[in-house]
Amino acid sequence: MDLGIAGRKALVCGASKGLGRGCAEALAREGVTVYINARTEATLMTTAEEIAKATGATVIPLAADITTEAGRETVLAALPELDILINNAGGPPTGDFRDWTRETWIKALDGNMLTPIALIKATLDGMIARKFGRIVNITSSAVKAPIDMLGLSNGARAGLTGFVAGLSRKTVRHNVTINNLLPGIFATDRLLSNFAAMAKNAGLSPEDYAKQREAALPAGRLGTAEEFGQLCAYICSAQASYLTGQNFLIDGGAYPGTF
Ligand code: NAP
Repeated sequence: MDLGIAGRKALVCGASKGLGRGCAEALAREGVTVYINARTEATLMTTAEEIAKATGATVIPLAADITTEAGRETVLAALPELDILINNAGGPPTGDFRDWTRETWIKALDGNMLTPIALIKATLDGMIARKFGRIVNITSSAVKAPIDMLGLSNGARAGLTGFVAGLSRKTVRHNVTINNLLPGIFATDRLLSNFAAMAKNAGLSPEDYAKQREAALPAGRLGTAEEFGQLCAYICSAQASYLTGQNFLIDGGAYPGTF
Protein backbone atom coordinates (compact mmCIF):
# COMPACT_ATOMS: atom_id res chain seq x y z
CA MET A 1 0.00 0.00 0.00
CA ASP A 2 1.38 3.39 -0.98
CA LEU A 3 0.86 5.65 2.03
CA GLY A 4 0.90 8.77 -0.13
CA ILE A 5 3.51 10.66 1.88
CA ALA A 6 6.62 10.42 -0.34
CA GLY A 7 8.40 13.78 -0.39
CA ARG A 8 6.86 14.87 2.95
CA LYS A 9 9.16 16.09 5.72
CA ALA A 10 9.14 14.62 9.21
CA LEU A 11 10.81 15.28 12.55
CA VAL A 12 11.16 12.16 14.69
CA CYS A 13 12.36 12.90 18.23
CA GLY A 14 14.21 10.31 20.32
CA ALA A 15 15.03 8.45 17.12
CA SER A 16 18.56 7.08 17.37
CA LYS A 17 17.25 3.88 18.98
CA GLY A 18 14.15 1.94 19.90
CA LEU A 19 10.61 2.97 19.02
CA GLY A 20 11.58 6.39 17.63
CA ARG A 21 14.06 4.76 15.30
CA GLY A 22 11.38 2.27 14.21
CA CYS A 23 9.10 5.21 13.28
CA ALA A 24 11.90 7.06 11.45
CA GLU A 25 12.80 3.98 9.45
CA ALA A 26 9.18 3.23 8.48
CA LEU A 27 8.63 6.84 7.33
CA ALA A 28 11.91 6.80 5.39
CA ARG A 29 10.74 3.64 3.59
CA GLU A 30 7.73 5.66 2.40
CA GLY A 31 10.06 8.24 0.84
CA VAL A 32 9.66 10.80 3.62
CA THR A 33 12.66 13.06 4.30
CA VAL A 34 13.36 12.38 7.96
CA TYR A 35 15.01 14.66 10.51
CA ILE A 36 16.01 12.48 13.44
CA ASN A 37 16.84 13.74 16.91
CA ALA A 38 18.57 12.32 20.00
CA ARG A 39 21.16 13.61 22.47
CA THR A 40 24.13 11.36 21.73
CA GLU A 41 25.61 12.63 18.47
CA ALA A 42 27.73 9.61 17.55
CA THR A 43 24.84 7.12 17.84
CA LEU A 44 22.51 9.51 16.02
CA MET A 45 24.95 9.92 13.09
CA THR A 46 25.34 6.15 12.76
CA THR A 47 21.55 5.66 12.83
CA ALA A 48 21.06 8.36 10.18
CA GLU A 49 23.59 6.65 7.91
CA GLU A 50 22.04 3.21 8.48
CA ILE A 51 18.47 4.36 7.77
CA ALA A 52 19.55 6.30 4.67
CA LYS A 53 21.44 3.26 3.37
CA ALA A 54 18.56 0.87 4.05
CA THR A 55 15.80 3.06 2.58
CA GLY A 56 17.41 5.43 0.07
CA ALA A 57 15.70 8.35 1.87
CA THR A 58 17.34 11.56 3.03
CA VAL A 59 17.95 11.36 6.78
CA ILE A 60 19.28 14.40 8.65
CA PRO A 61 20.57 14.04 12.24
CA LEU A 62 19.84 16.89 14.68
CA ALA A 63 21.57 16.25 18.01
CA ALA A 64 19.97 18.01 21.00
CA ASP A 65 18.17 17.37 24.26
CA ILE A 66 14.61 17.89 23.03
CA THR A 67 13.31 18.30 26.60
CA THR A 68 15.17 21.59 27.03
CA GLU A 69 14.20 24.95 25.53
CA ALA A 70 17.70 25.38 24.06
CA GLY A 71 17.56 21.90 22.51
CA ARG A 72 14.19 22.57 20.92
CA GLU A 73 15.43 25.91 19.55
CA THR A 74 18.41 24.17 17.91
CA VAL A 75 16.18 21.55 16.31
CA LEU A 76 13.43 23.95 15.19
CA ALA A 77 15.99 26.34 13.66
CA ALA A 78 17.30 23.54 11.43
CA LEU A 79 13.90 22.34 10.19
CA PRO A 80 12.11 23.15 6.95
CA GLU A 81 8.29 23.47 6.87
CA LEU A 82 7.22 20.27 8.60
CA ASP A 83 4.47 17.83 7.54
CA ILE A 84 4.91 15.14 10.18
CA LEU A 85 5.95 15.38 13.85
CA ILE A 86 6.68 12.35 16.01
CA ASN A 87 7.05 13.33 19.67
CA ASN A 88 9.21 11.03 21.75
CA ALA A 89 11.94 11.06 24.44
CA GLY A 90 13.03 8.87 27.32
CA GLY A 91 10.48 8.09 30.01
CA PRO A 92 10.71 9.26 33.63
CA PRO A 93 12.29 7.04 36.30
CA THR A 94 10.39 4.58 38.49
CA GLY A 95 9.93 5.24 42.19
CA ASP A 96 7.64 5.98 45.14
CA PHE A 97 5.65 9.23 45.01
CA ARG A 98 6.65 9.98 48.62
CA ASP A 99 10.20 10.57 47.42
CA TRP A 100 9.28 12.93 44.59
CA THR A 101 9.68 16.67 45.01
CA ARG A 102 8.15 19.45 42.93
CA GLU A 103 11.37 19.44 40.87
CA THR A 104 10.99 15.71 40.16
CA TRP A 105 7.48 16.32 38.86
CA ILE A 106 8.48 19.35 36.77
CA LYS A 107 11.21 17.28 35.10
CA ALA A 108 8.73 14.51 34.24
CA LEU A 109 6.16 17.02 32.98
CA ASP A 110 8.84 18.77 30.91
CA GLY A 111 9.92 15.52 29.26
CA ASN A 112 6.62 13.78 28.64
CA MET A 113 4.00 16.51 28.49
CA LEU A 114 5.34 20.05 27.98
CA THR A 115 7.96 19.15 25.34
CA PRO A 116 5.44 17.53 22.97
CA ILE A 117 3.07 20.47 23.54
CA ALA A 118 5.87 22.99 22.79
CA LEU A 119 6.75 21.18 19.53
CA ILE A 120 3.08 21.01 18.54
CA LYS A 121 2.79 24.75 19.24
CA ALA A 122 5.82 25.49 17.06
CA THR A 123 4.66 23.45 14.06
CA LEU A 124 0.86 23.21 14.07
CA ASP A 125 -0.14 26.53 12.46
CA GLY A 126 2.17 25.94 9.48
CA MET A 127 0.59 22.50 8.98
CA ILE A 128 -2.88 24.03 9.17
CA ALA A 129 -1.94 26.71 6.60
CA ARG A 130 -0.59 24.03 4.24
CA LYS A 131 -3.59 21.73 4.81
CA PHE A 132 -1.57 18.69 5.77
CA GLY A 133 -0.19 17.57 9.09
CA ARG A 134 0.27 14.36 11.04
CA ILE A 135 1.33 14.49 14.68
CA VAL A 136 1.95 11.31 16.66
CA ASN A 137 2.92 11.27 20.32
CA ILE A 138 4.62 8.14 21.60
CA THR A 139 3.16 7.70 25.08
CA SER A 140 2.67 4.39 26.92
CA SER A 141 0.20 1.64 27.72
CA ALA A 142 0.41 3.23 31.21
CA VAL A 143 -2.05 5.85 29.94
CA LYS A 144 -4.70 3.13 29.64
CA ALA A 145 -3.64 0.93 32.56
CA PRO A 146 -1.39 2.75 35.07
CA ILE A 147 1.83 0.93 35.99
CA ASP A 148 2.77 0.77 39.67
CA MET A 149 6.18 2.46 40.24
CA LEU A 150 5.70 4.60 37.12
CA GLY A 151 3.58 7.30 38.73
CA LEU A 152 5.55 10.08 37.03
CA SER A 153 4.87 8.53 33.64
CA ASN A 154 1.22 7.77 34.46
CA GLY A 155 0.65 11.39 35.48
CA ALA A 156 2.64 13.30 32.85
CA ARG A 157 1.43 11.22 29.91
CA ALA A 158 -2.19 11.39 31.04
CA GLY A 159 -1.83 15.20 31.04
CA LEU A 160 -0.59 15.16 27.43
CA THR A 161 -3.38 12.77 26.44
CA GLY A 162 -6.06 15.05 27.86
CA PHE A 163 -4.61 18.09 26.12
CA VAL A 164 -4.37 16.31 22.76
CA ALA A 165 -7.94 15.01 23.08
CA GLY A 166 -9.19 18.60 22.97
CA LEU A 167 -6.79 20.07 20.41
CA SER A 168 -7.08 17.23 17.88
CA ARG A 169 -10.77 18.01 17.31
CA LYS A 170 -9.89 21.55 16.27
CA THR A 171 -7.26 20.65 13.69
CA VAL A 172 -8.78 17.73 11.77
CA ARG A 173 -10.91 19.95 9.50
CA HIS A 174 -7.60 21.32 8.17
CA ASN A 175 -6.31 17.78 7.46
CA VAL A 176 -4.03 17.97 10.50
CA THR A 177 -4.46 14.98 12.80
CA ILE A 178 -3.03 14.38 16.26
CA ASN A 179 -2.95 10.87 17.73
CA ASN A 180 -1.11 8.93 20.41
CA LEU A 181 0.62 5.57 20.11
CA LEU A 182 0.67 3.55 23.36
CA PRO A 183 3.42 0.90 23.41
CA GLY A 184 3.08 -2.19 25.56
CA ILE A 185 6.31 -4.15 25.98
CA PHE A 186 8.82 -3.71 23.16
CA ALA A 187 12.33 -5.10 22.86
CA THR A 188 14.33 -1.87 23.01
CA ASP A 189 17.50 -0.88 24.87
CA ARG A 190 15.43 0.86 27.53
CA LEU A 191 13.20 -2.15 28.10
CA LEU A 192 16.06 -4.64 28.12
CA SER A 193 18.03 -2.60 30.66
CA ASN A 194 14.87 -2.40 32.84
CA PHE A 195 14.57 -6.17 32.49
CA ALA A 196 18.19 -6.62 33.59
CA ALA A 197 17.47 -4.70 36.82
CA MET A 198 14.22 -6.60 37.42
CA ALA A 199 15.97 -9.92 36.79
CA LYS A 200 18.53 -9.07 39.46
CA ASN A 201 15.72 -8.29 41.95
CA ALA A 202 13.97 -11.54 41.08
CA GLY A 203 17.20 -13.55 41.43
CA LEU A 204 17.01 -14.68 37.79
CA SER A 205 19.35 -14.38 34.86
CA PRO A 206 18.27 -11.64 32.38
CA GLU A 207 17.57 -14.38 29.79
CA ASP A 208 15.33 -16.42 32.13
CA TYR A 209 13.54 -13.30 33.32
CA ALA A 210 12.88 -12.17 29.74
CA LYS A 211 11.57 -15.65 28.83
CA GLN A 212 9.20 -15.54 31.82
CA ARG A 213 7.86 -12.11 30.83
CA GLU A 214 7.46 -13.13 27.19
CA ALA A 215 5.58 -16.29 28.11
CA ALA A 216 3.13 -14.22 30.18
CA LEU A 217 2.18 -12.05 27.17
CA PRO A 218 -0.77 -13.16 24.99
CA ALA A 219 1.47 -12.77 21.92
CA GLY A 220 4.16 -14.92 23.59
CA ARG A 221 6.84 -12.42 22.61
CA LEU A 222 7.92 -8.80 22.94
CA GLY A 223 6.98 -6.29 20.27
CA THR A 224 9.52 -5.04 17.75
CA ALA A 225 10.38 -1.45 16.87
CA GLU A 226 9.69 -2.32 13.22
CA GLU A 227 6.05 -3.22 13.82
CA PHE A 228 5.61 -0.16 16.02
CA GLY A 229 7.06 2.03 13.24
CA GLN A 230 4.77 0.54 10.62
CA LEU A 231 1.66 1.48 12.61
CA CYS A 232 3.08 4.96 13.10
CA ALA A 233 3.67 5.32 9.35
CA TYR A 234 0.06 4.36 8.63
CA ILE A 235 -1.23 6.96 11.11
CA CYS A 236 0.91 9.49 9.20
CA SER A 237 -0.44 8.39 5.81
CA ALA A 238 -2.53 10.46 3.43
CA GLN A 239 -5.29 7.84 3.88
CA ALA A 240 -5.49 8.37 7.67
CA SER A 241 -7.02 11.86 7.43
CA TYR A 242 -10.19 10.83 9.34
CA LEU A 243 -8.28 9.52 12.38
CA THR A 244 -7.70 12.03 15.14
CA GLY A 245 -7.61 12.24 18.92
CA GLN A 246 -7.17 8.49 19.22
CA ASN A 247 -5.02 6.41 21.55
CA PHE A 248 -3.71 3.36 19.72
CA LEU A 249 -2.61 0.63 22.10
CA ILE A 250 -0.06 -1.69 20.48
CA ASP A 251 0.71 -4.36 23.05
CA GLY A 252 0.21 -7.85 21.58
CA GLY A 253 -3.05 -8.21 23.51
CA ALA A 254 -1.55 -7.53 26.96
CA TYR A 255 -4.34 -5.15 28.03
CA PRO A 256 -7.05 -7.50 29.28
CA GLY A 257 -10.17 -5.34 28.82
CA THR A 258 -12.90 -5.66 26.16
CA PHE A 259 -12.46 -1.97 25.21
P1 NAP B 1 15.18 3.69 24.00
O1 NAP B 1 15.39 2.43 23.26
O2 NAP B 1 15.98 3.99 25.21
O3 NAP B 1 15.35 4.90 22.96
C1 NAP B 1 15.13 6.23 23.38
C2 NAP B 1 15.58 7.17 22.29
O4 NAP B 1 15.27 8.52 22.68
C3 NAP B 1 17.08 7.15 22.06
O5 NAP B 1 17.33 7.45 20.71
C4 NAP B 1 17.58 8.27 22.97
O6 NAP B 1 18.87 8.70 22.56
C5 NAP B 1 16.47 9.29 22.76
N1 NAP B 1 16.28 10.26 23.85
C6 NAP B 1 16.11 9.98 25.17
N2 NAP B 1 15.97 11.13 25.86
C7 NAP B 1 16.05 12.14 24.95
C8 NAP B 1 16.01 13.55 25.04
N3 NAP B 1 15.87 14.16 26.22
N4 NAP B 1 16.13 14.29 23.91
C9 NAP B 1 16.29 13.68 22.70
N5 NAP B 1 16.34 12.35 22.55
C10 NAP B 1 16.23 11.59 23.66
O7 NAP B 1 13.64 3.85 24.49
P2 NAP B 1 12.29 3.22 23.88
O8 NAP B 1 12.06 1.92 24.53
O9 NAP B 1 12.29 3.34 22.42
O10 NAP B 1 11.19 4.21 24.52
C11 NAP B 1 10.71 5.37 23.87
C12 NAP B 1 9.56 5.94 24.71
O11 NAP B 1 8.51 4.98 24.77
C13 NAP B 1 9.96 6.25 26.15
O12 NAP B 1 9.30 7.43 26.57
C14 NAP B 1 9.44 5.06 26.92
O13 NAP B 1 9.15 5.37 28.27
C15 NAP B 1 8.18 4.76 26.13
N6 NAP B 1 7.75 3.36 26.33
C16 NAP B 1 8.54 2.33 25.92
C17 NAP B 1 8.10 1.02 26.12
C18 NAP B 1 8.92 -0.19 25.69
O14 NAP B 1 8.49 -1.31 25.92
N7 NAP B 1 10.06 -0.03 25.06
C19 NAP B 1 6.87 0.79 26.74
C20 NAP B 1 6.08 1.87 27.14
C21 NAP B 1 6.55 3.16 26.92
P3 NAP B 1 19.83 9.54 23.56
O15 NAP B 1 19.83 8.79 24.87
O16 NAP B 1 21.15 9.56 22.85
O17 NAP B 1 19.22 10.89 23.67
